[in-house]
Amino acid sequence: MCGIVGYIGHREAYPIILKGLKRLEYRGYDSAGIALFDGTDIKLSKTKGKVDDLQDKIEREMPTNGNLGIGHTRWATHGVPNDVNSHPHYSNSGDLVIIHNGIIENYESLKKELIKRGYTFKSDTDTEVLVNLIEDVKKNENTKLGKAVQIALNQVVGAYAIAVFDKHKPNEIVVARLGSPLAIGIGEDEFFIASDASPFIEYTKNAIYLEDEEMAVVRRNKGVKVRKIKDDSLVDPYVQELQLNLEQIEKGGYEHFMLKEIYEQPSAILDTFRGRMRPNEGIIKMAGIEDNMKTFLNANRIIVVACGTSWHAGLVSEYIFEDLARIPVEVEYASEFRYRNPVITDKDVVIAISQSGETADTLAAIKLAKSRGAFVFGVCNVVGSSIARETDAGAYTHAGPEIGVASTKAFTTQITVLTLIALRLARAKGTISSSEFRHHMIELELIPEKVKRALESDAYVKTIADIYKNASNFLYLGRGYNFPVALEGALKLKEISYIHAEGYPAAEMKHGPIALIDENMPIVVIATKKGHYEKVVSNIQEIKSRKGKIIGIVTEGDEQVRALADHVIEVPETIESLTPLLTTIPLQLLSYHIALMLGKNVDQPRNLAKAVTVE
Ligand code: GLU
Repeated sequence: MCGIVGYIGHREAYPIILKGLKRLEYRGYDSAGIALFDGTDIKLSKTKGKVDDLQDKIEREMPTNGNLGIGHTRWATHGVPNDVNSHPHYSNSGDLVIIHNGIIENYESLKKELIKRGYTFKSDTDTEVLVNLIEDVKKNENTKLGKAVQIALNQVVGAYAIAVFDKHKPNEIVVARLGSPLAIGIGEDEFFIASDASPFIEYTKNAIYLEDEEMAVVRRNKGVKVRKIKDDSLVDPYVQELQLNLEQIEKGGYEHFMLKEIYEQPSAILDTFRGRMRPNEGIIKMAGIEDNMKTFLNANRIIVVACGTSWHAGLVSEYIFEDLARIPVEVEYASEFRYRNPVITDKDVVIAISQSGETADTLAAIKLAKSRGAFVFGVCNVVGSSIARETDAGAYTHAGPEIGVASTKAFTTQITVLTLIALRLARAKGTISSSEFRHHMIELELIPEKVKRALESDAYVKTIADIYKNASNFLYLGRGYNFPVALEGALKLKEISYIHAEGYPAAEMKHGPIALIDENMPIVVIATKKGHYEKVVSNIQEIKSRKGKIIGIVTEGDEQVRALADHVIEVPETIESLTPLLTTIPLQLLSYHIALMLGKNVDQPRNLAKAVTVE
C-alpha cells in the first residue's frame, strides 16, 4: 500500500503533489519520489525516507516548474526501501514514467520475457517491470499510451493503481485500477489523481472513483475518458460530490484507523496469500521457504519468538505446524527467551514474528539464536525493517501500513503467512495428502469473503458492547486453535479500553478463574463447531451454573450454544485451523466499541507505542 498523486492542468504541479504526498504519508512512508514535466523533458527525484527528505532533496537539486507531474510515497513490497527502488520508475527508453500502488504477482515471468527482448532493470521492483511491459506493447503494437496500458494490463496478474505519462505526449496521464484505490479530481481545466481525495479536497469537490478493472485517459483541457481494461469498452463515469473533510478521508471514511484496519482484513489477507498459492494447481510458493527447504525439513523443532499480538499469532502457528507438518514447536516471549540462556542448536529453526520488524526484544532474540547457530526466519510487515535484514530469510505479510496501535490486520495476516508456511512444509514432508493440501488452500481462499461476513456482526457487537461496557473484568475462553484467540481478545480489550481482561484455555477455568465468576462477570467463549465443541459447551454450562454472563462466538446456525448463552455472535464455518481468522473479528470489534463508548483514545491508547523499540 502506498500513496499516489498526479496533476495535469494550468497550475504548478510540484506544490500540489508535494502537499498531496504529505497527506498520503499515512498510507506508506519508506520512500518517496516525484516526476515533473517541465515543458521539454521529465525531471525526476526520489529518495528513501519521508516526504520531508524528498522535499529537501528536490529543492536542492531540481527545478520544480511544470504543470504535469506524478508523485509517490512507497510502502515497499518488492525490493527494499532505497533510492533506486523508490517510484516513479522510468521505462528503458526514458519516455514513460510510472507510479504504482500494489503488487504485480506475475512480475517474474514478465521480467524474464522482457530481459529476453533486451530490456534491463535498475530496481528490484515489480513496478519497473510494468512500465517496461507498457513500453514494449506500445512499440510492438505501435499504439497510443492508453491502448498500450490496456493491452499490458491484460497480461498482468495482481493489484494496482497506476499513473503513467509519456514525455512525448505531455497532455495526458493514463491511470488504471484493480484492487488499489484511485480517485480523479475534476477541476476547471485541471485534473488531480490520487489514492484518496485528500490531496485535492481544497481544489475541487468533484471526483470520479475508478472501479476495479477500469482505466482512464486524463487529458489536459479535454476531460476524462474511462474504459474497461478487459474489453476497452467506454464507461460513463459517476462524478461524485465529496462531503468528507480531510481527516475523514485519510481514515477512508472510518472514525478511527483501528476500525479502518479491522475492515481492511479481507483485502489484507487476500494480499498476503495472493501470488503465493494456486489451489487449482496445488501449489504454494514462497521464495524464503523454497530456498531453504532442506533446513526446514531437517529441523528438529521450530522455536517461535515474538511479543504481544505477534506472540499470539505464534501460538496459533504452534497448532498449525504441529497439526499439519508434524514439526515440534515452542513459542517463546522474545523478552524471556533472550535472557534465559536457552538451549539452541544448529538443528533449530527460529521464526521471529513482528509487525514493525523493529521490536527490540525480538531483534535481540534473533541475534542470540543466530549466535548459537540456528537458522532464523522472519515474518514481518515492514519491508526492509531491521528484523527483515537481520534474519536469514523471511516472508512478508502484505497487510499495508498499520497505524492503530492495537494490532488487528497484522494478527490475521501473520496467521495467514504462517498457515501458508505450515502447509508448504506439510506437503514437502508428506504429512498431509495432496487432497488435504488442496482442501486447505481452497478454504483459505474463501477466508476474505468469510471475514467480510464476520464483519457484518458489527452492529450487533455494538449492542453487546453497550450492555457490558461498565464491567470491570472480562474473561475470554477458547480451546485448541482458539485458545490464542481468547488471549488476543483479552489483550485487545485491555489495550484500548483499560478494562482488566484475562484469556484462558477454557478447560483451565476450573483451576482458578471459575472463582471469579458471578452475575457481573461477562465471559466471552469461543465455541465454533470445529474444535472441541462439546467440551466447550460443557464449560459454558459450568459458567451458566455460576450465573456468569455468556457471550458466545459460534458457527453460523448454531443452536446449542444459543440456547445457553446470553448472546451469540455468529461467524461463518471453516476448517478448524482457519477459525482464528474469523473468531478474532468480533473480538476486535467488541474491544473497539467498548473503548469508544468509554471515551478512550482508540488509535493511541495511553502508555503504548506502535513499535516497541525499547527493551
Ligand atoms: N510493489 C511496488 C513496490 O514494491 C509498489 C508498492 C506500493 O504500493 O507502495 O515498489
